[in-house]
Amino acid sequence: MVQLHDKRFEVFIEKAAIDERVQALAAQIQADYRGMNPLLLGILNGSFIFAADLFRHLSTPAEISFIKLASYKGTTSTGNIITAIGLEENIADRHILIVEDIIDTGRTLHSFLPQVLQQQPASVKIACFLSKPDARVCDVQPDYTGFDIPDVFVVGYGLDYDGQGRNLQHLYRLSDNQ
Ligand code: 5GP
Ligand code: MG
Repeated sequence: MVQLHDKRFEVFIEKAAIDERVQALAAQIQADYRGMNPLLLGILNGSFIFAADLFRHLSTPAEISFIKLASYKGTTSTGNIITAIGLEENIADRHILIVEDIIDTGRTLHSFLPQVLQQQPASVKIACFLSKPDARVCDVQPDYTGFDIPDVFVVGYGLDYDGQGRNLQHLYRLSDNQ
């Protein structure tokens, strides 16, 4: 059990299981992208540990870059608008693999994907460490998923609770006993 701010969290997925799964995902990605020199695009902050672990297990040519997504209220009825900060690479004609920590409602990627497609990459796929299929509001289908999890709040392995917990090695879930 760990305490972060006012909440208690309990181990949900152990580090050994995470490592094994990430290695398996990397093997699958490597096989699918052989000879394609993919550009992994990690979404900060949450994906930095997953992206690093995934990337270091690729032994064929691949590149990595990180972006931050900033969300602000649009003036139209479309709601929040998401913009990418820090995308310096030219992604036209590149094979892009977006690397996310977790897909929850799917709103973030649903809003961001059209901006990626607009720049005419050769292909776009999504790798997420975690997915909460039961929480989905927008139709976003990850191509590579570490773990499908129920709709619970999790921290660790890069994911935070109000800034804390990113450095936890296991994945933790909010405990029922607070
Ligand atoms: P979506 O737009 O898919 O609802 O939101 C995805 C983002 O919400 C993630 O990138 C992450 O920042 C945050 N998020 C969703 N669920 C969780 C969770 O269980 N724990 C943490 N730490 N962040 C979450
Ligand atoms: Mg995130």
